[in-house]
Amino acid sequence: MTVAGGVRGLDNGGVVVQAVALTIAAMSAAVRARGRRTGRNGESNRNGAAGMSRGEPLPAVERALYVVATPIGNLRDITLRALDVLRQVDVIAAEDTRVTAVLLAQHGIRARLLSVNAHNERRRADEIVALLERGSRVALVSDAGTPGVSDPGALLVRAVAAAGHAVIPVPGPSAAIAAISAAGLSAKHWLFYGFLPTTATARRTALDELARLPFALVFYEAPHRVREAVLAMADQLGDAREVVIARELTKRFETIHRTRLGETIAWIDADRDRERGEFVLVVEAPPSPDKPAVDDSHDATLALLMEELPLTRAVRLAAALTGAPRKRLYERALALKSKKDA
Ligand code: SAM
Repeated sequence: MTVAGGVRGLDNGGVVVQAVALTIAAMSAAVRARGRRTGRNGESNRNGAAGMSRGEPLPAVERALYVVATPIGNLRDITLRALDVLRQVDVIAAEDTRVTAVLLAQHGIRARLLSVNAHNERRRADEIVALLERGSRVALVSDAGTPGVSDPGALLVRAVAAAGHAVIPVPGPSAAIAAISAAGLSAKHWLFYGFLPTTATARRTALDELARLPFALVFYEAPHRVREAVLAMADQLGDAREVVIARELTKRFETIHRTRLGETIAWIDADRDRERGEFVLVVEAPPSPDKPAVDDSHDATLALLMEELPLTRAVRLAAALTGAPRKRLYERALALKSKKDA
């Protein structure tokens, strides 16, 4: 499956929007009439039967650190609540103030910006705790997506919580969740790994540990490393394992493509543009042990190759010929050998 296209059309049609707005207004009035308690985040009742928010603007932004998710490409992917918070806080702590300034300008928001990045997060954490102590309201944003997800933020959040101040998430876009939502995963469970180590040895060790887990795996990768990353994945996780390449999500050249790890390089090489942009790689879970990846049909190929070649070379050739994971073929080869030797 490959999806490539322009920026999504977001025109909902005035009539429909008006009808929905009226319905929401009527629902809100009904909820108010029932006299439900309004919670901190504008929700009707956090523990109420429905547990639903009224979706109204915040009554007031209180003294707290708001962790606000921002778009991962399409600037319209920002929630109404995120805009409420960014409009009202006293300070916005941003990974790169220039990037955030563009987003704020798009929505006509003026704010005091403070840079918080991997290099100054510890020092800034003290300054932000001091701001909260003086009664300020602070928002934290990263360049794209959700702060703290492969982005700075965790250290600041811990410092603020340890100082006894509220930390309030304002959820929204994240590349990992967007990729998973469009990947059509077969696996029930997935593990978010983020970026693999950049050195070959450390990457191999990390992948070796992951290979044993019965989960789908979600990786972030930079364009200049995507080639070596998928080669290492094919090697350690098996050529036959399926992967969904989610590239440039929510942007003009958004691409979502399902293939096998062993076929990824050929797919990239077919169009050099496929190596550009931002990537999420979602690798399907390995087959469950009761569903072996290598059926007996590969035994004939293996047996033939093992007549002529040493075991490891026979396995390597069989993997290239069949696309089956090398590890599994190796296990079958050992089984065939011990049967023969018996
Ligand atoms: N905090 C962000 C989030 O919640 O997704 C992630 C920040 S991390 C520094 C940046 C990485 O996220 C990129 O290298 C890429 O792997 C992934 N990413 C971010 N935006 C993306 C997009 N539009 N399409 C695909 N991957 C994206």
